[in-house]
Amino acid sequence: MKVRVHKFKSLATQALEDQRLQDTLQRIGETFRSRREAGFSVVQDPEKLRQNAREVKERALSQLPQLLDLLEKQVVAAGGRVYRARNAREANAMVVAIAQRHGVSSVVKGKSMITEEIAVNTALEKHGIQVWETDLGEFIIQLAGEPPSHIIGPALHKNKKEIALLFAQELNIPYTENAQDLTMAAREALRNRFLKADMGITGANMAVAETGSIVLVENEGNIRFCTTLPRIHIAVMGIEKVVQGIEDMVTLLEVLARSATGQQLSVYTSIITGPRHEGELDGPEEFHLILLDNGRSNILTDPELREILYCIRCGACLNVCPVYLKAGGHSYGWVYSGPMGSVLSPLLLPHGLARQLPFASTLCGACKEVCPVKIDLPRLLLNLRARFEQEKAGPPQRLLPALYSQAALHPTLFRLSTAALRRPSSFLHLMDKKGVSVGRFFSPWAKGRVFPRMKEPFSSRWPDLAQELRRKT
Ligand code: SF4
Repeated sequence: MKVRVHKFKSLATQALEDQRLQDTLQRIGETFRSRREAGFSVVQDPEKLRQNAREVKERALSQLPQLLDLLEKQVVAAGGRVYRARNAREANAMVVAIAQRHGVSSVVKGKSMITEEIAVNTALEKHGIQVWETDLGEFIIQLAGEPPSHIIGPALHKNKKEIALLFAQELNIPYTENAQDLTMAAREALRNRFLKADMGITGANMAVAETGSIVLVENEGNIRFCTTLPRIHIAVMGIEKVVQGIEDMVTLLEVLARSATGQQLSVYTSIITGPRHEGELDGPEEFHLILLDNGRSNILTDPELREILYCIRCGACLNVCPVYLKAGGHSYGWVYSGPMGSVLSPLLLPHGLARQLPFASTLCGACKEVCPVKIDLPRLLLNLRARFEQEKAGPPQRLLPALYSQAALHPTLFRLSTAALRRPSSFLHLMDKKGVSVGRFFSPWAKGRVFPRMKEPFSSRWPDLAQELRRKT
C-alpha cells in the first residue's frame, strides 16, 4: 500500500469537495455512534468495564517479554510454530518462505490491519502467489484497487451504486443494486477461491499466553474458512496483542464488539490453539504464528506514548472524530486513520513522515470518551505536536526559551533584560498593529497576531502600588 501520510492536507481538501463521500461519512458517524450506545446501554457499569479492559492491557504490556515467551512455548506445545519479525520486511520474508516451501500458489486472507501494515499481498504477488481478500469489504476494495478507509469497515466509503457497477464490471454479473444479490455474487466468487487455496492468512485480535491460543472475531464466517480449509494457516500478530489468560480475553471481548459495531459479541469468535489435532475434523495441517514488532518495542519504551499500544482496533474513535468524519479514511494516507491513526502512524512510519497527522484533530476529546481502553488520545496528540513543533523550531525559537529560563532564575538578569526589551517590544507591538508583522519571519504562528507590549515589571511598580494601598486602608 502506497504511503501518503505526508499529503493529509491536500487529500483532505479533495475529500471535502466530494459531496458523495461527505454524505457517506455523515451516515457512518450516525450509524456507528447509535450502535455503540445501544451496545453499552445493556452494560450495568460501562465505566468499570472500560477500566477493567484498560487494566488488562496495562498488565499485559508491563510483562510483555514474559508473556511473549509463554505464548511461544504454549503455541509450540500445541504443535504450532512461532517466528519473531523485527520489521515488515522480515515478516513478509517469513510468509513468502513458508508459502514457497509448500508450493503455495493461491492464498485466502481474512481482514487484518497488520497485514495491510506490512503489505503482505504485494510481497506474495511479487513471487507469483495469488492473494484473495475474503472479507466482503476487503473483497470490494481489492476489486477496486483501493486501500481500506476504516479499521472495521474497509469499504465504508463506497455506496451501493459504486459497488453494483464494480461487481458488474469485475465479476461479470448483470448490474444490480440489490444488496442480497451483490452479497451472493461475492459469496459465489469467493467459494471457489476458498476451496482452491493452499494457505490462509489472518491477523489476530489477541493471543492468550497461558493457553497458546489466538483469538479472531468476525461477522461473516470467512475467517473460519481461511483458518480451517487450507492446509496451512499463518497468523500475523502485533506483539502488543498478547494477554495473559482467558479471563483477560473475555474482558477485552466484552468491550471490543460493543465499541466496534454495538454487538454484545461478534457473530463468530474463533479461539485457535495450534493446527488440527488427531481426531479433529477441521483445521490446517500447519499453524504458523508471526509475532511482529515493527517499531512497537520502541513505543513501549516511551513512557508518554506507550498507551497507544493498548489500542484494540475497535474503530470507535474514528466514528466520533469530527476530522475523520469530514476527511475520510483515505486522507490519512496509510492503514490507520482517525485519532488512533494520527498517533500510531507517526510512531510506526519513518520519522517525521506523518508529522501532519497529530495536527489533524480538534482535540474535542470525543475519542477519549468512547475508547474502550480509555486511551487519552488528545494527550498523545498534544505530545506528538509538541515534539514535532520542537524539531521544526529554528534556532531563534529554541534559543529564546533557553534564554528566558536563565533570566527567570537570576532576578538581576531578569530586571536588566526586561528593561532592555521594553522598547523593542513596543516597536513590534506598534508594527503588528499597523499590519506589518515582523514575527512572521520567525514563525508562521505570529502572522495575524499582535506582539504584546512589555509593561514595567511588577517588582518596580510594587513600591508605588504598596504606598497607594497603604493610603487607602
Ligand atoms: S484508540 Fe481506542 S477507540 Fe480508537 S480504535 Fe483503538 S481502542 Fe478503539
